[in-house]
Amino acid sequence: MINHLITQKNWQTQLSTAITSVDELLSLLKLERSELSVIVPDNFGLRVPRAFVNKMQAGDANDPLLRQVLPTAEEQISVSGYTQDPLAENAHNPIKGLLHKYQSRVLLTITGACAIHCRYCFRQHFDYGANLPTSKEQEAIVDYISDNPDINEVILSGGDPLSISNRRLFAWLDCLEAIPQLTTIRLHTRLPLVIPERIDAELLQRLAQSRCQLVMVIHCNHANEIDDNTAQYLQRLKQIGVTLLNQTVLLAGINDQVETQVALSHRLFAAGVLPYYLHVLDKVAGAAHFDCDEQQAITLYWQLLSKLPGYLVPKLVRELPNFAFKTPIDIYQAD
Ligand code: SF4
Repeated sequence: MINHLITQKNWQTQLSTAITSVDELLSLLKLERSELSVIVPDNFGLRVPRAFVNKMQAGDANDPLLRQVLPTAEEQISVSGYTQDPLAENAHNPIKGLLHKYQSRVLLTITGACAIHCRYCFRQHFDYGANLPTSKEQEAIVDYISDNPDINEVILSGGDPLSISNRRLFAWLDCLEAIPQLTTIRLHTRLPLVIPERIDAELLQRLAQSRCQLVMVIHCNHANEIDDNTAQYLQRLKQIGVTLLNQTVLLAGINDQVETQVALSHRLFAAGVLPYYLHVLDKVAGAAHFDCDEQQAITLYWQLLSKLPGYLVPKLVRELPNFAFKTPIDIYQAD
């Protein structure tokens, strides 16, 4: 691991000092531009916290964490079938900041900000500017949920819901917990992996007081993302009763080998997290080079079944536009 960095600064400082310069990143990793087809995108530029860079291997242009964040020329290749809104989310957006696609749960995009920019992100073209709820829309969201008694779970997403301040996050929790029908609040976040100090004492205290069941789905793609420090922070969440799950995107050249997936499941479990989903890539424009062939995914999955106990095998799924659930991939299908 590279030998610069990082004293345990508070998470806001880490957030604001994330690396946004390709040259700085390559310099820290002792890599030359000539080794990589790096680009500087107009939108959705490089962003990576230093603590995450610290988990990369210096001198390795194919480091699996680096490849998740480094913008390369492959993103500029237009590939048929890869679109800006691969899940047709715009069709399920009844009010600003709220996506209602699944029957019993709604997803709130409470911020457009992320601590890290993942090059495969299916929301990299999402119009957050038009979708961030103001305080007035926050009231409309509460009304919408109250008017739909089937909804019992709210998913806080974004962007990354843990990238906002505790004050703003707690205000969301307060208003959601006041809706009697809600039983569960779920947070989808990469912050515990990229800036573990985000799980600060104030956040832990507030989450421990929630009247709702809390689920946190971290988005971890490789065992190297969970070092001992990260595992300690995840364990703190587990100790206060948060259910910890992981979803992984199957990424070509990053985690498409069976050994990589097996190591990830074991590392997650050691940190108190259960594997939940293994997603094949959502076909978002600019990310086709990360996609794995479905037959390859199925072959990998059979190997996982043979090597892992059932509770460490995530479900292999694809998200299809306009389906009200994740679609399990048929692993019995013929070539
Ligand atoms: S943290 Fe999540 S929402 Fe943000 S860029 Fe990465 S995958 Fe996308």
